[in-house]
Amino acid sequence: MIPFLDLKAINQQYRDELVEAGTRVIDSGWYIQGQEVEAFEREFADYCGTQHCIGVANGLDALTLTLRAWKEQGRLKEGDEVIVPANTYIASVLAITENRLKPILVEPDEATFNLCPEKTAAAITPDTKAILAVHLYGQIAPMKEIMALAKAHNLLVLEDAAQAHGASIEGKKAGSWGDAAGFSFYPGKNLGALGDGGAVTTDDADLAKTIRALGNYGSHKKYENRYQGVNSRLDEIQAAMLRVKLRHLDEEIEHRRKVAEHYLANIDNPVIQLPAAGERESHVWHLFVVRTDKRDELQQHLSENHVQTLIHYPLPPHKQQAYVEWTTLNYPITESIHGSVLSLPIGPTLSFADMKIVAGSCSAWSDN
Ligand SMILES: *Cc1c(COP(=O)(O)O)cnc(C)c1O
Repeated sequence: MIPFLDLKAINQQYRDELVEAGTRVIDSGWYIQGQEVEAFEREFADYCGTQHCIGVANGLDALTLTLRAWKEQGRLKEGDEVIVPANTYIASVLAITENRLKPILVEPDEATFNLCPEKTAAAITPDTKAILAVHLYGQIAPMKEIMALAKAHNLLVLEDAAQAHGASIEGKKAGSWGDAAGFSFYPGKNLGALGDGGAVTTDDADLAKTIRALGNYGSHKKYENRYQGVNSRLDEIQAAMLRVKLRHLDEEIEHRRKVAEHYLANIDNPVIQLPAAGERESHVWHLFVVRTDKRDELQQHLSENHVQTLIHYPLPPHKQQAYVEWTTLNYPITESIHGSVLSLPIGPTLSFADMKIVAGSCSAWSDN
């Protein structure tokens, strides 16, 4: 079987470096909020091109704590509207509702799966206070247009960059466009830890301070608590792993781009719609998502040809039981995406031979 993503092989490449980094943490006797986290925060902020990076426990917390910090700062209040793409992974929406803000689900651009400036503009009301721009599947959203809209309407912009570490527009990276950005280091993400992890990047020093306090029981100073905070911190051991992985991120992105280019050039099938690729630098190919009307049949065919695929995602947020109050809402573009998408194997260790098998099996499939 060609695995969808071979995490074991990915981390095996750096085994010696990871063991060395882990040993350093074990031997240091310091496991929370120490030198590794501090160094990783500096290195990741530099990578993204921001002033600040705050390590947190996971990507969901990165988003939730940023919105919470804006509430603590008085820049958002309960009930404010936050625009978010209707086809996003549910974590983006959970971060909004956890803060008792109101998600305004907006249909995505069908070609890129990302927010489209026109539909975003049309969804703005006097109650809109923020845009949560998701860089879905690894492709950066149209940030120039989104930032212009935000400026015109005085909106905050939070990037959900959980799938897009390293994607950029004109050299400016994901995580440096909005007022802040949330990243995930879940093991399967393009920059993955060996456990959970997340971070917020921002140029706003005051926001960084507030998020750091909120994630540390609301404490800005030892034993003094300004907020009713939570415990959401990046561990030393994961920070040490991430420092190793960050050093290899650009090579890994380059390999993912080669896989995507192979698929785009070699999957030849009139009933399989290939993803739209803009500028090379804009996409880091966290996922390679094709569309077809008979998605389940294609998945079955590939499985019979020993190719593992996944669906991102089978159900949109508004069809989830968690948001039962939205199940009567209609988002036809989003629903059609969820009914037709299939993610092909892509990753930094996928071999040329395997790419050929995947592309060949897709080309050979007939939907009748
Ligand atoms: C993975 C992911 C998250 C959540 O990250 P976790 O670290 O798993 O909490 C949020 N948004 C998107 C788009 C994601 O893909």
